[in-house]
Amino acid sequence: MVKLLGPAEVRELAQHLDLSPTKKLGQNFVIDGNTVRKIVAAADVAAGERVVEIGPGLGSLTLGLIEAGASVTAVEIDRRLAALLPETIAAMGASEGSLTVVTADAMDVAELPGDPVALVANLPYNVSVPVLLHFLEHFPRIGRGLVMVQAEVGERLAAGPGSKVYGSPSVKAAWYADVRLAGRVGRQVFWPAPNVDSILVRLDRREAPGDETERMATFELVDAAFGQRRKMLRQSLSPVLGAAASDILERAGVDPTARGETLGVAEFLAVARASRAA
Ligand code: SAM
Repeated sequence: MVKLLGPAEVRELAQHLDLSPTKKLGQNFVIDGNTVRKIVAAADVAAGERVVEIGPGLGSLTLGLIEAGASVTAVEIDRRLAALLPETIAAMGASEGSLTVVTADAMDVAELPGDPVALVANLPYNVSVPVLLHFLEHFPRIGRGLVMVQAEVGERLAAGPGSKVYGSPSVKAAWYADVRLAGRVGRQVFWPAPNVDSILVRLDRREAPGDETERMATFELVDAAFGQRRKMLRQSLSPVLGAAASDILERAGVDPTARGETLGVAEFLAVARASRAA
């Protein structure tokens, strides 16, 4: 039987490594088994599935995934944490065959052993959005995800057009997946406690609305629109679309005086297509 890490085990492992968690790597470790089980349940992890976990840290969530019967490909940047992980999971009763550790910066990972079908992670907060988008882009086999992120970031990821917090991460995530919030998590379940609240975000991959060239053109427009979000689209998009910005927007059925925060991913794509046809 697999046991989960509690506060005492986390303290012991940290002492063993003489570990001082760093803010730079977003090292806040989960010390509460109930939170781990809540994440695993919200991810709908099934026995026999291969899951990728980004930033396994001391192994809190890794053990929860293995307890649910998953095999885990764990990508950890911190060499000492990566090296300790197989020992920890063995000591907690899990078979070593259920874990493959990749010691790397998740942003640089181009291949994933085991071909995972789901991403489940307590993401390092400072790089959560780029890392998530990197995995959605490069690993199309990943069909769903459940990530814990800073509450503000999660709300932004799941926001729709017109919302105050709607922005570039919302549109980009929507290219790949249906995104929804799946529950808040307090600060006291971490060691050390972060100074922000956390939230669970569930992603279910959908068919991409366009091809790779169109995705790149769409994302360029999204970056330009939200880079100057107070400006009308005919102005904010002119560095990308040039003098014909207003014409292109009209051809795409988009009001040139609108702002980026009112457009959904389909409308940004329509503008990208109209610009290619121009
Ligand atoms: N999963 C563990 C848990 O829930 O207790 C730890 C989560 S902690 C918020 C984030 C983890 O991501 C840390 O272990 C940190 O070392 C790792 N990390 C930070 N940046 C990373 C990166 N670019 N690539 C891979 N791992 C990273």
